[in-house]
Amino acid sequence: VVKALQGPAYNYRAMPRPEKALIAEIRRLAKSNKPSRLIPTGIGDDCAVLHIPPNHDSLVTTDFSLEGIHFHRDWHPPESVGHRCLTRGLSDIAAMGGQPVAAFLSLALPGDLPQSWVTRFMRGLLALANKYKVTLAGGDTAESPNGILADILVLGMVPKGHAILRSGARPGDRIYVTGTLGGSAAAIHELQARPNKKINPRDYPRHFHPEPRLELGRILGEKRLASAMIDLSDGLSTDLAHVCEESGVGAEIESTAIPRAKVGKPKYEVKLDVALHGGEDYELLFTAPRHKRIPTQIAGVPITQIGHIRRGRGILLMNEHSKGSKLEPQGWEHFRR
Ligand SMILES: [Mg+2]
Repeated sequence: VVKALQGPAYNYRAMPRPEKALIAEIRRLAKSNKPSRLIPTGIGDDCAVLHIPPNHDSLVTTDFSLEGIHFHRDWHPPESVGHRCLTRGLSDIAAMGGQPVAAFLSLALPGDLPQSWVTRFMRGLLALANKYKVTLAGGDTAESPNGILADILVLGMVPKGHAILRSGARPGDRIYVTGTLGGSAAAIHELQARPNKKINPRDYPRHFHPEPRLELGRILGEKRLASAMIDLSDGLSTDLAHVCEESGVGAEIESTAIPRAKVGKPKYEVKLDVALHGGEDYELLFTAPRHKRIPTQIAGVPITQIGHIRRGRGILLMNEHSKGSKLEPQGWEHFRR
């Protein structure tokens, strides 16, 4: 049960003035967010009320976006922070083959944070919510002693028994990824190398405005094409290892098959290491039995076969001479040096 964004008058009175103003502003902005017939009661009551249609399972995911870990105030425009905050949750729903219904946002904000930052953050978040018909149905606010903390909860749904799990991969299944990899981490490398240089968010769209692969994930689920799926949030090497662990299998991937992102200005192709270990691309990785015909693209997003599932444990990376080496999970550890 999740508390709706505090609306009742007595809650208002108990709050310091800035917080009252903050919540009023969030509610004002959220008016642009169309209510869903699945949510007869959203922001403003003690709880949101949700109608999940019969013959569906609910999907629930939560993700933190922490200043200094997932974003930097001087690197990321507030709209991008809001967009990426919601993408984290929507991408998890996509990875299950589901469809998002409602989002709940809890914010802890430093007392001296300008209101304009919050307004721009909410605009970025709500633009993405509107695009995918997700209702912001509640949340909470508090003052943070140190840095901005945003916690997003996304509730989704999937036809009963159709959720695509990490545990369904079997030896012989082929491994596919959507889109291209490493484009998000490349932006971080660029920012770390030259902290004083501003980079243009448009040259690194997968970092600043990643689109969750909702339509593609839903189609894979509906057509029962995928045996296992995960979203690439931590990096290919780490996320593929999660699928292998949960399925009790190993994997073999081809270095030459990995679709590497082209980013920056002038455009360059990211290095293999960045594509293998860079996180936060929010593409999907899935496996499918050999006999399933997988289209080369779904919902306008290219799909690339990168290897196959094998018996045993561990991931083998084959180089261009078909020589294998063990690929250790080295998923990108956010902004750690
Ligand atoms: Mg995930």
